[in-house]
Amino acid sequence: MQKVVLFGECMLELRQSEANTMHRSFAGDVFNTAVYQKRAFAQQQVSFMTALGQDVLSQQLVDNCKAEGLNCDLVRYSTSHNPGIYLVQTDAQGERSFLYWRENSAARQAMKLLDEEVRNQVCKADVFFFSGISLAILAREDRALFWQFLNEVQKAGVTIAFDPNYRARLWESAEDARQQFALAFTASSMVLPGIEDFSVLYGLNELKDIVAFCEPFNIKELVIKNGGNSVFCRAGDFELTQAVKPVAKVVDTTSAGDSFNGVYLGARLAGYDIGQAIELAASAAGLVIQFPGAIIPNENFKALIDQ
Ligand code: ADP
Repeated sequence: MQKVVLFGECMLELRQSEANTMHRSFAGDVFNTAVYQKRAFAQQQVSFMTALGQDVLSQQLVDNCKAEGLNCDLVRYSTSHNPGIYLVQTDAQGERSFLYWRENSAARQAMKLLDEEVRNQVCKADVFFFSGISLAILAREDRALFWQFLNEVQKAGVTIAFDPNYRARLWESAEDARQQFALAFTASSMVLPGIEDFSVLYGLNELKDIVAFCEPFNIKELVIKNGGNSVFCRAGDFELTQAVKPVAKVVDTTSAGDSFNGVYLGARLAGYDIGQAIELAASAAGLVIQFPGAIIPNENFKALIDQ
């Protein structure tokens, strides 16, 4: 069985539904990626690696992961911290804003809770995926532990996949993010950025400049997402620019990149070639953005996969 481990944070998502009522769900970039990968490729073992607390919310979160078919053997439980929370608010113009309570979340402690069992299991996976958000939220003093761990995983022959998913507010400074991302680009053989990551962080807006920036790293598969425009891939001598099918009514772009990543990872692992994998991943992302929230109802998603 093909095995993927995805490392990151999942939070409680609260969304105002009516006056004085909150709709409750669970989301987080890497968690979203894991959910869509598993939904699209049920035969793969998709493990979510994170840290949670020993509270009711953590239990509900794990139950939710299990209901999505995710393997939770690599979840560890802090005795002192609980999951993060965020609130999504939509104003009269339909603009969304996010309010977070995650500074003290259990996921930040993940490296302190890393044990031999987790190390061994991750080293047996085919792919290990993490994002710039997984990095940003880690307790600063635990960064060295993470890079040491990643080095072991890479040496064990696991494919390392990374999406920078740059979020300025999670970093102390842009320079701090650039330093950490340089380590991530060096360690990863598959990199799945959005074009915006590079324009905001490095001032690079043109595809050719981004490709040139990535050239010195040993990235075997570079897939650059450019919203509703196109997806570009460079893998060795192979190069492809694939147009994205337009979506008439975009409702909510939350999780567009995450669903793309999950389906792309699953498709590549299942033996799809790059063009086929991009096509399926872009169709999945195109569907996800037609519904509100990070995780769309499974019956809507299944319609795509069953096609
Ligand atoms: P990220 O969230 O990582 O920055 P993008 O915004 O580029 O990623 O979106 C990820 C994928 O979602 C795109 O590659 C595309 O397939 C799909 N997508 C995003 N926006 C649109 C859109 N307006 N129309 C159609 N597809 C879209």
